[in-house]
Amino acid sequence: MAKKVLVSGGAGYIGSHVTVELIGAGYDVVVADNMSNCDMTCFEGVKKITGREDIPFYQIDCCDYEAVDKLFAEHKIDAVIHFAAFKAVGESVAKPIMYYRNNLVSFLNILEASKNHGGCNVLFSSSATVYGEAENLPVTEQTPRLPATSPYGNTKQMCEDILRDVVLATAGGADGQGVVKGIALRYFNPIGAHPSALIGELPRGVPNNLVPFITQTAIGKRECLSIFGNDYPTEDGTCLRDYIDIVDLAKAHVAAVSRMLDGKMKQDYEIFNVGTGRPVSVYELVTAFEKVNGLKLNYKFAPRRPGDVVAIWADTKLANEELGWKAERTVGETLASAWAWERHLAGK
Ligand code: UDP
Repeated sequence: MAKKVLVSGGAGYIGSHVTVELIGAGYDVVVADNMSNCDMTCFEGVKKITGREDIPFYQIDCCDYEAVDKLFAEHKIDAVIHFAAFKAVGESVAKPIMYYRNNLVSFLNILEASKNHGGCNVLFSSSATVYGEAENLPVTEQTPRLPATSPYGNTKQMCEDILRDVVLATAGGADGQGVVKGIALRYFNPIGAHPSALIGELPRGVPNNLVPFITQTAIGKRECLSIFGNDYPTEDGTCLRDYIDIVDLAKAHVAAVSRMLDGKMKQDYEIFNVGTGRPVSVYELVTAFEKVNGLKLNYKFAPRRPGDVVAIWADTKLANEELGWKAERTVGETLASAWAWERHLAGK
């Protein structure tokens, strides 16, 4: 029988791509989402891409323990991939209580249900933000985490620690608890869309992230892209990031889930960087977008954005070797997919 994976936050940007790849790899998937930051567009797209109308969907808030518990009672969940969280850095600074409550309580509930229903494999979606402004680049999983600069970033660090502690506490079935095993994936900068252009990123309001702002500017929804800072100590003066294609990222989740379910973990709690290992500057990304899509983007250089680190990119050796996974799509292909998705949304 196929193993069953719960994807919390599965109607969102990353969750929908992961659901597609899990189904493609032969897993049964249950999706839970409270729809607080998305509509049904991506979930409908997932059904079209996979040809599966019957994916169980629970519109529940993971902060509601009873609802989570009921889902676990109705399905024998073998693994959970937890995406259900708020993700806007600036908003988290303005509304820390809301961020801590939502991001921590929902994860605690997932862990509690995992433990109470006989144990489970839990994959947590962490972030490269845990590294902050790292001294040595690229960052490995051993690079020390730096104090978070926002409540959002802090919830990522705290959830990693909570997962580690729960794994430790349940190891070997101590106290008759179900065993929880865990993997934290630290994402670098996920961008792009599914090649079908049926699912992609759907930011509400003005996008904070670079690529949705680029595509919305190209389509005419925004007047001009501001490149935040061109006086950084980098070759062209703009920040360096590791942009990881969303389908490649989704495949890393399948590799990590399979590692857990196939009993291949070397430790009960593991961490992997998920990036390309290649730094790309903001300016390079903008010009690559213009080139691959054959258009001119309206952009200007603007002051630095507070809180941005100068440069970060991943050492991907561990993920490459242990997960047998590697980023494959080129930045150009990814930027073409982002543009195809924006045009699909605009009906063009
Ligand atoms: N950026 C930019 N203009 C924008 C949005 C982002 O120049 O409208 C820059 C930002 O300063 C950073 C990079 O693009 O150097 C990636 O930012 P994003 O918000 O996408 O991800 P982050 O790395 O902050 O998580």
